[in-house]
Amino acid sequence: MRAAHLVLVLGDQLDPKKGALREALPGVDVIVMAEVAAEAGYVRHNRHKIAFIFSAMRHLRDDLIERGFVVDYYAFEDGKRSLQEAVECALKKGAFSRLRCCEPGEHRLVRDISGWQLSVPVEIVEDDRFLASHAHFTAWTSGRKQLRMEHFYRSMRSTFKILIDAEGKPEGGKWNYDDQNRGGWRNKDSVPTRVQWVHDDVTQDVLQLVERQFPDHPGDLKQFYLGATAAQAERQLQWFIDNGLKRFGRYQDALAEESPWLFHSLISMYLNVGLLDPLKVCREVECAWRENRCGLAAAEGFIRQVLGWREYVRGIYWLAGPSYADLNVLGAQRPLPTWFWTGSSDMRCIDVALRQSLDLGYAHHIQRLMVVGNFALISGLDVKQVCDWYLAVYVDAFEWVELPNTLGMALYADGGLMASKPYAASGKYIQRQGNHCSSCRYSPAKVVGEDACPFNSLYWHFLDRHAEEFIRNPRLALSLKNWQKKSKDEQTAILAWAEVEMERLTS
Ligand SMILES: Cc1cc2nc3c(=O)[nH]c(=O)nc-3n(C[C@H](O)[C@H](O)[C@H](O)COP(=O)(O)OP(=O)(O)OC[C@H]3O[C@@H](n4cnc5c(N)ncnc54)[C@H](O)[C@@H]3O)c2cc1C
Ligand code: SF4
Repeated sequence: MRAAHLVLVLGDQLDPKKGALREALPGVDVIVMAEVAAEAGYVRHNRHKIAFIFSAMRHLRDDLIERGFVVDYYAFEDGKRSLQEAVECALKKGAFSRLRCCEPGEHRLVRDISGWQLSVPVEIVEDDRFLASHAHFTAWTSGRKQLRMEHFYRSMRSTFKILIDAEGKPEGGKWNYDDQNRGGWRNKDSVPTRVQWVHDDVTQDVLQLVERQFPDHPGDLKQFYLGATAAQAERQLQWFIDNGLKRFGRYQDALAEESPWLFHSLISMYLNVGLLDPLKVCREVECAWRENRCGLAAAEGFIRQVLGWREYVRGIYWLAGPSYADLNVLGAQRPLPTWFWTGSSDMRCIDVALRQSLDLGYAHHIQRLMVVGNFALISGLDVKQVCDWYLAVYVDAFEWVELPNTLGMALYADGGLMASKPYAASGKYIQRQGNHCSSCRYSPAKVVGEDACPFNSLYWHFLDRHAEEFIRNPRLALSLKNWQKKSKDEQTAILAWAEVEMERLTS
């Protein structure tokens, strides 16, 4: 029998069979878990996120105890300020040969842990909850001039044999059915009612604790809607496969007044903390397609997100290193408007997205990218402040996934490492994708004037002020040509109006 290890389990590493727990021995090792102020408060995390993580941690604690482990658990009100403090306290209670933990999901914590001076050595194991290890991703990047997600995704499909036919080719003859994923919804199909959880005593206690301890954080806990166990996460996935998947592809990019989630899966937070396994998720969705329970475009569109985008952004985060967070190639420096914390901009599409983000910690991809992110991009909001906001408000936000998506995809602040062009759009795009414009005080058809949609003039201003950088990008040629086709007088009027709007909306 080997000597005892102290095993540190972080709040986003809750798979009992993976990470630091993979080789843990009941009856020998001791598990340490801690709800600490430093982690709960380094940004103003949404209360849904804090409650979800604390409750999921407490449920895992109980599960591990049932499996025969000793768990040294520090609840928030035990007053441990940092993980190091909790670990030092746990080390004093026994004789351990080492501290074992799984690599954290962000550079901040890697730096922190590598600076700990403890009485035992620290062993850090690789996080095996992802399908592409660091070595796998680095090998994929080798010799490539561009790191495009689509190429990575195809290689992942082949490696894991997902939606691949007997000859090794993509099912249906195409890798990607994105062209079938752009429908606007507009009440064409009824939105299914979501699973409602009855929260047990563990979750009820946590909800009260978070209400008490985090009064200044966003999040309306009366609407708490998350499960906290692997079984609930699996039920959520099954609910999605039975009720949402069929229409997921078609309405993936749709915006709607009536529903914050439409046909989306709501599984990102379960995946990100280890309550769901990404490979199992992809296989279950593939199986649903093979059993004729959904179309190929829906299954492919969904699998692309989990097997492709999710693994790809994580690869980029670790490859780019800590300095990625400082990139700001477009020099965006306008302060984040205070209405990001209230949802009172008076632009209907933005306010709907902001309010549900603040209240529920949820917005789907197109709201994050083409509504809030698009506004931040074209009005030149400060990159760091925008990234911090995204990290704070969403329940699924962890830096490895939040940062590349926000800084790279939405704000183009890495100059095109992730995105082949900036995701900038005028009000016409938002009008096409949903029904917010009909309840808005602005008109998406107007570019200049009190009732003109601000996205329109800001979009042209963005193209004009970065024209020199963008001229070399063939994917922006048409947009720049459309701008240049306008008369000088029209351009002057649009630019002047955009300045007025930027000042008014961001002051
Ligand atoms: C600016 C911006 C910030 C984002 N921040 C986060 C974040 O902090 N955490 C996070 O998990 N996702 C983030 N995303 C990706 C995506 O918006 C969310 O994963 C998704 O909205 C979660 O809702 P869902 O589970 O209903 O997803 P669905 O639309 O049902 O998609 C299925 C799953 O695919 C994965 N996925 C889809 N797109 C991405 C992507 N671009 N990157 C990584 N995984 C993806 C998620 O695990 C998601 O659960 C961000 C996207 C943008 C544009
Ligand atoms: S008019 Fe413009 S601001 Fe208003 S909802 Fe439409 S796109 Fe958004």
